[in-house]
Amino acid sequence: MPQTETDLEHLLHRIDGKGYPAYKDIRGNYNFGDFTLLVDHVQGDPFAAPSRLRVRLPMSVTGFPPDTRASRSRSIALRDFLARVFSGECSAVSDRSRGSGKSGLLAMDIPGQEILERSSVMVTDEFVEARFVVGLPAHGRRVLGRQAAAMLCHDVPHLVNKTLKYTHIDQKRLDAHLKAAEDADALRARLPELNLVGFMANGSTLPRRSGVDDRPLRSENVVPFRSPDSLRVEVTLPHAGRVAGMGIPAGVTLIVGGGYHGKSTLLSALERGVYNHIPGDGRELVVTNPTAVKIRAEDGRRVEGVDIRPFIDNLPDHSNAAAFRTDNASGSTSQTANIIEALEVGARVLLLDEDTCATNLMIRDARMQALVEKPGEPITPFIDRVRQLTTLPPVQTETKEGVSSILVLGGSGDYFDVADTVVRMDTYLPYDVTKEAKAIAAQHPTGRQIEGARTWPSLTRRIPLAESLNPRKGKREVSIKARALRAVLFGSEEIDMSAVAQLVDEGQVRAIGQALNLAREKFMDNHRDVAAVVEAVMQEIARQGLDALDRRQTGDYVAFRAYELAAALNRLRTFSVR
Ligand code: ADP
Ligand code: MG
Repeated sequence: MPQTETDLEHLLHRIDGKGYPAYKDIRGNYNFGDFTLLVDHVQGDPFAAPSRLRVRLPMSVTGFPPDTRASRSRSIALRDFLARVFSGECSAVSDRSRGSGKSGLLAMDIPGQEILERSSVMVTDEFVEARFVVGLPAHGRRVLGRQAAAMLCHDVPHLVNKTLKYTHIDQKRLDAHLKAAEDADALRARLPELNLVGFMANGSTLPRRSGVDDRPLRSENVVPFRSPDSLRVEVTLPHAGRVAGMGIPAGVTLIVGGGYHGKSTLLSALERGVYNHIPGDGRELVVTNPTAVKIRAEDGRRVEGVDIRPFIDNLPDHSNAAAFRTDNASGSTSQTANIIEALEVGARVLLLDEDTCATNLMIRDARMQALVEKPGEPITPFIDRVRQLTTLPPVQTETKEGVSSILVLGGSGDYFDVADTVVRMDTYLPYDVTKEAKAIAAQHPTGRQIEGARTWPSLTRRIPLAESLNPRKGKREVSIKARALRAVLFGSEEIDMSAVAQLVDEGQVRAIGQALNLAREKFMDNHRDVAAVVEAVMQEIARQGLDALDRRQTGDYVAFRAYELAAALNRLRTFSVR
């Protein structure tokens, strides 16, 4: 006989007042009529990590019409939406005054501004499943059975009813959510045929409230985005219809302008344009080529066997630039490693902001060339490689030829020579100043010599060694955690992710930690190179969903990109390659 809600209630009343381990008896599945409650993991004591539960409702009970999940965009957006309502309602009913430790906690991770695939809500043709955590209530270390019964047999059914049934949710809001995701995906998919690497719709709101608050800036001083006529592109989207905005052409694009005129804000919006945004965010129709990677200097990082020769060669200590290693990279070597590693896993757009770049890697002007001649300078600056990048052959059959760069540069006009498009930000609005920049370049030659080889060298492949990844702490169990967006805790190693700009959710960081372990266990076979290992992990997740990362079926994970996974691997201080 399958157990029922009543059985659970009786059981909880029976263990009331007993020692906390008595809660272990409630593990199992319970039929609640409308749905099944699955108690997967029961915490060992009130202060331990909370218990993990799931609720599963047949699709017929949830009543979501088939068109709410008729495409991949929609089904991800539906799951994301349900995670928002479910987590919001969890916060409303969670009552921490119910006892000691985590007693009374009812929680699901609260999503931010991006619409992302999340393991906290799963949707199939048959069912909808929500995964959450519960702090089973205790007085000291004794079971509070009645409070537990109130939570599991009253609060949880209330939550399910209010948030997972089509008739009870805000259907208009859901519809807007699905449409926003579908439009953004459609827009992003059209970029290649338009020969664009980014698009920003007129009327978008780019600035954010603060460095720690990603919601749109709300003030009468916000200047809505408006494209210059020469870069204006019009597209027709499935729901928004005809939309006009600024197209950023493939090639080399400079964003120039005075300090505080909105250059970095524009670039940040492009960084985030690899993700879809929720309605009201202001960046719903700001999209970027999905392979765009933010590049920055990151001194102090580790670099393992990276071929940095396109930018740095003939180092004074005779270290091998074809397989460069350091435990403490400089500004220029760290930025170079970031570029080469991004290209290695298929990045086709590089985003650079002078605020966070190493100046000596970006430029070397005529006067400096005259003073420090080439044999004494290992660096070939980015300016002499950026055009070669635009003609690099495709990495995969799906990717187009060439790597584009979008650079925020207020300080050096030398780049006018190598740019295809120059956008000037003035009081937060873009102007196309390509012609003026080219005229100035003709009138004022830089006098500098082009440095480095005329062609991009073929780079050393790196084969990761599985044994260089150890997810265990001592001899104990696998231990993989996240520290907000800042670090992956992998065994006893802390992988510093603070310079990896395009992570937006702690669930991505957790997922990346698990993905490293999956890569180690399954795909690092001494034959696959870094790109193939990362690709194999991404394909496994594409096939099996986020549950490929953890057989415990938890709600902890959020989808991430190959670039951020590679970034974690490359920053692991024990990582080694052959
Ligand atoms: P820059 O990189 O050119 O020095 P930032 O992008 O850092 O400038 O922007 C400077 C300030 O202006 C920031 O506080 C930002 O929030 C604000 N800002 C940017 N864009 C807008 C806009 N469209 N409307 C209002 N404020 C903006
Ligand atoms: Mg700036």
